[in-house]
Amino acid sequence: MVTLKPSQTFTRILYIEDDSSYSKLVGLYLEEMGISNYEFTHVSTLAQGLDILGNDTTTNVLLLDLNLPDSEGLSTLKTVLNKYPNQNVIVVTGASDKAMGLQAVQAGAQDYLVKGEFDEKLLSKSLMFSIERSQILTRLEEAQRIAKTGNWEYKPEQGYFYASDVAFKILGITTPEADTLIEEVRNTTSPLYIFEEISELARSRKKVRKEKTIHLQNKKQRHLLINCEAALTSAGEYVFSGIIQDITTQKRSEELRKAKDVAEESAKVKEQIFANVSHEMRTPMNAILGMANLLHQTTLTQEQKEYVSIIQQSSQDLLELISDILEVSSIQNKKLFFNEKEFCLRDVLQNLSTVFGPRSKEKNLDFSVVIDPVIEWQIIGDDMRLKQVLYNLIDNAFKFTDEGSIKVEVKAVDVSRDVCKLRFWVKDTGIGIEKNQKMHIFEAFNRILPKERNPKGTGLGLSIVKNIIENQGGVVGVNSIPNRGSDFFFELSFGRGSSIIDNKAATAPIDTNSQEIAFDILIVEDHQMNQLVMQKTIEKNWSKANVLISNTGDDAIELLKTTDVDIILMDIQMPGRDGFETTEYIRNNMRPEIANIPILAMTAWQYGGNKDDYRKFGLDDYILKPFDPQQLFEKITYFLEK
Ligand code: ADP
Repeated sequence: MVTLKPSQTFTRILYIEDDSSYSKLVGLYLEEMGISNYEFTHVSTLAQGLDILGNDTTTNVLLLDLNLPDSEGLSTLKTVLNKYPNQNVIVVTGASDKAMGLQAVQAGAQDYLVKGEFDEKLLSKSLMFSIERSQILTRLEEAQRIAKTGNWEYKPEQGYFYASDVAFKILGITTPEADTLIEEVRNTTSPLYIFEEISELARSRKKVRKEKTIHLQNKKQRHLLINCEAALTSAGEYVFSGIIQDITTQKRSEELRKAKDVAEESAKVKEQIFANVSHEMRTPMNAILGMANLLHQTTLTQEQKEYVSIIQQSSQDLLELISDILEVSSIQNKKLFFNEKEFCLRDVLQNLSTVFGPRSKEKNLDFSVVIDPVIEWQIIGDDMRLKQVLYNLIDNAFKFTDEGSIKVEVKAVDVSRDVCKLRFWVKDTGIGIEKNQKMHIFEAFNRILPKERNPKGTGLGLSIVKNIIENQGGVVGVNSIPNRGSDFFFELSFGRGSSIIDNKAATAPIDTNSQEIAFDILIVEDHQMNQLVMQKTIEKNWSKANVLISNTGDDAIELLKTTDVDIILMDIQMPGRDGFETTEYIRNNMRPEIANIPILAMTAWQYGGNKDDYRKFGLDDYILKPFDPQQLFEKITYFLEK
């Protein structure tokens, strides 16, 4: 017994034969072969056979007698293949027309069997090949369907065109009948004309790749990619073949990606404008605040004093807002810098008491700061950022607490030889936060305020705090009960520095009030208002100070060729030679008495980068604009006495 074991689970075999003895014989052979799961159908006319093929496209093998009551000879096969070009056909011929069997194979049949000559073995072999082919074609179609890719072949000289079912589906049409195919390909209004066009191009270029957008009947757009390769047969006839692919999804995601890139780019530009405008606003704010401070020190009537203090307060508020916006855009632009230096945590906390002490008295709140006694060493990290975070949280606590207390606590939670992880709390007994709002308050511009209360603020503070902490690898959070109070906490790791006792001497305050020092100071600054503010502020503190002014870096270099000064304040952002270039020139090209004097940068960039960055250019230190007069005096005194 010959066993046929096709891998497919179900096999459909159709036999069109008018001689029922043959159909019976084949039926018996099939039973003998032991195919596990198959369906064998027999009909006696071509019309009946075509009916079955039309209703059921899954017939794996068609056994076809060529001489039927309703069709004679090769045209029987052609009728079938015209309608179903991919159908597997095994032709069954009479002994007298064996030759027709060969012709049938040339015309597209898989194989042929001669009546009276084939036995179970031959039938089995032929069927097996046919079934395997049918399965491969099915799998290929499946793969093409998944990949949305079809294949096609065109032989113009022979009037032959073939395309897989998927290719037609991609074009949005049902598979046309084989005898109309060539006409369709040559018809300029048909969707199939695409193949004629690309084949024409391939005649001269051999390989062509083309993208095309078509409109389906439902008006939807579809993007296609068609490949064509030309080959010449030995008879000098062209064979064009290739693939057609539906690339609509790729195209759309490409378009989406482009749109996303454009959106991201414009968001970046917006942020940059935001950052630049905020930065530019700080320079005039410097003048307004400085002038208001100076005005405040002159003899004024009570009314005038009030006006000036309103100007001072409003300028200060505006400055804070600008700083917040600048900070947010730095965060968004990933330009958040952190400095590392050794500092005394106790001093930072001490300072909190000094700053917030008056406010706690004003609001009648108990304000306390508690530090873990274990922390008896300096810590290494960014003290400015730490202050910023603590000030923000404590400021909020004051804003949202009307009675009770505000407590700041620091504990060392993890200490090793070089590193210490500190946990900070800012606890208040204020209005508290609803559970569902807790996550949102850390988002930018989010403020959740009860109707009766609208304290000053932008809703940026906590988002900045979160970013500062997370960008240093820390965590931040809040526990809160409405109407009972909030505990904001954060954890940050710092380096462990030297013991506090060893460093006490280094932190001794500098006496900046000495009116007696006489010195020459050069201010290099292009903004006239700022020149005036700086000059007046210095002259008020040191009556014997001689203030010289240069509008540009070049002017300063000219002046320094002939004039000695003791210290220089150098604006960084100046037109022409900027502060860095001017300093480099002075350090490298001028006489020693000038080349070695202290030069302090003045910069409006908040957190003006790293001190070391300034040192690279030969600057000794920097002062941020708008400047804090006390800090300015301290720095000048320090460098004059050095
Ligand atoms: P702002 O203080 O400018 O409104 P923040 O980002 O600092 O902005 O705070 C966002 C919101 O979080 C506040 O508007 C407030 O609703 C809530 N919030 C912050 N701190 C507290 C606090 N200590 N108690 C109650 N609510 C607070």
